[in-house]
Amino acid sequence: MGLQDEVKKRKTFAIISHPDAGKTTMTEKLLLFGNLIRTAGTVKAKKTGKYATSDWMEIEKQRGISVTSSVMNFEYKGHKVNILDTPGHEDFSEDTYRTLTAVDSVVMIIDATKGIEAQTIKLFKVCKMRGIPIFTFINKLDREGREPLELLDQIEDVLNIETYPMNWPVGMGKRFLGILDRYNDQFIKYNGNEDETYIPMSDMSEDELTEHPTYQETVDELALLNEAGDQFSLDRVLEGEQTPVFFGSALAPPFGVQTFFDTFISMAPAPGPRRTTQEVISPVYPDFSGFIFKIQANMNPQHRDRIAFLRVCSGKFERGMNVNVARTGKSIRLGQTQQFVASSRDTVEEAYAGGDIIGIYDPGIYRIGGDTLVESKQTFEFDELPQFPPEMFQRVTAKNVMKAKQFRKGIEQLVQEGAIQLFRGYPYDSMIIGAVGQLQYEVFQHRMKHEYNVEVLLESIGERIPRWLKKEQVDAKLFDERNLLVKDREGEFLVLFKNDFALRWFIDKHPKIDLIDLYEVN
Ligand code: GDP
Repeated sequence: MGLQDEVKKRKTFAIISHPDAGKTTMTEKLLLFGNLIRTAGTVKAKKTGKYATSDWMEIEKQRGISVTSSVMNFEYKGHKVNILDTPGHEDFSEDTYRTLTAVDSVVMIIDATKGIEAQTIKLFKVCKMRGIPIFTFINKLDREGREPLELLDQIEDVLNIETYPMNWPVGMGKRFLGILDRYNDQFIKYNGNEDETYIPMSDMSEDELTEHPTYQETVDELALLNEAGDQFSLDRVLEGEQTPVFFGSALAPPFGVQTFFDTFISMAPAPGPRRTTQEVISPVYPDFSGFIFKIQANMNPQHRDRIAFLRVCSGKFERGMNVNVARTGKSIRLGQTQQFVASSRDTVEEAYAGGDIIGIYDPGIYRIGGDTLVESKQTFEFDELPQFPPEMFQRVTAKNVMKAKQFRKGIEQLVQEGAIQLFRGYPYDSMIIGAVGQLQYEVFQHRMKHEYNVEVLLESIGERIPRWLKKEQVDAKLFDERNLLVKDREGEFLVLFKNDFALRWFIDKHPKIDLIDLYEVN
């Protein structure tokens, strides 16, 4: 099979959701479709260890399949599916965001009983900002949830995105009768078991269900939606401007999951071209290239190895090939590589372009910020991965002042690697590290101690709201401990506002000062 055909087959995506919305349950169903596991059940055990706890590891533990699958891949109906794991917000780190740079689409799962939950909004917004096509699955229809229209409104409001319901639930919870599959023009009957009955809409007049008041109401509601709602547009979906919304239930007996997945697979984009410092590189470009989006230390406690995750962007990867790290020009032989498969941590001999993810052994030479690896005769680099504005901040000092040198070295390297972000107080110099999740601090402290032999003291200055300033508008006198003025690693000024109130008060007082929010969805 030619490179072009291989690329077209690929569907690389991440499932994003608030903890407990049903990501694990859904993943299990998809793995069943891919024949990677044979039985699905509820994964009840909750995270125990702090490091690298992924929901998948829970699945793996329970099902006895091997650990360390941050990426799962399987064949499904002629497609090659790659699912990338993104940890829930309790294990959040910038890695979660960086992973989003390596996928071609996302599946957003929302709990119908809860709607979009506050702590997860950022994650969803980042997808919208980056223009990643978002497919929405509203889960737990077997329970009494919020009104479907209310849920759609919320998605539109929060993400500033059009919604297009692909199906529409008839009742919910105990009154749940099934879904009107608007896109395929059929009714899918909920029988309370594994069987789903598919009835073409044209045959529905013969079904006694049509007499049911709930069914009638739903048909009327849908007629209204057809008139007043947005039109479906695959182009807009692929631009990230419209999200197809599927209703269903991922838990056994799953409902609406098969139709969702089949439709998703038929619509989700295959890998596309990517921008580089030289030209746009198409996935069918013959030379191998890829970028690193995540480095995981100590994934497996038995091997204290570090693994860099690389997304193949063009050409074909073959084991043992020589590539260059574009940033340093250093040549390296990719000998020890792994493709992450749920059933085993197989050594991968070759991986094709477009979305395939390989794990490569990292002797400490890669940077998470998006190091590019290219076939030797090439020198281009993919766009650097964006920095995501952190929200938690801590002042950091070395416990023992005699260790200042190692302290600086450790911080420098960990910042370079992208494990944490460093800010400098202004005008009084102090070191403040920012993170998007608590886990990053724990990893930071642990690595400083074990890799650089420095114990660090962290003093929290709490969750803050960062807003960037234009240089010409900076006036240090306006800021204090409450609204702290700092510089980022590019030397840009930003203010860490104590809270929403402090931010609003400042805007009121100084309307002429522009405050830039890097999370603004437009
Ligand atoms: P995650 O934290 O997003 O991975 O969520 P899980 O998949 O672990 O699910 C969280 C809880 O919700 C578990 O107890 C599941 O059994 C339950 N759950 C998941 N999907 C459904 C569903 O469709 N209906 C109902 N009633 N419960 C569900």
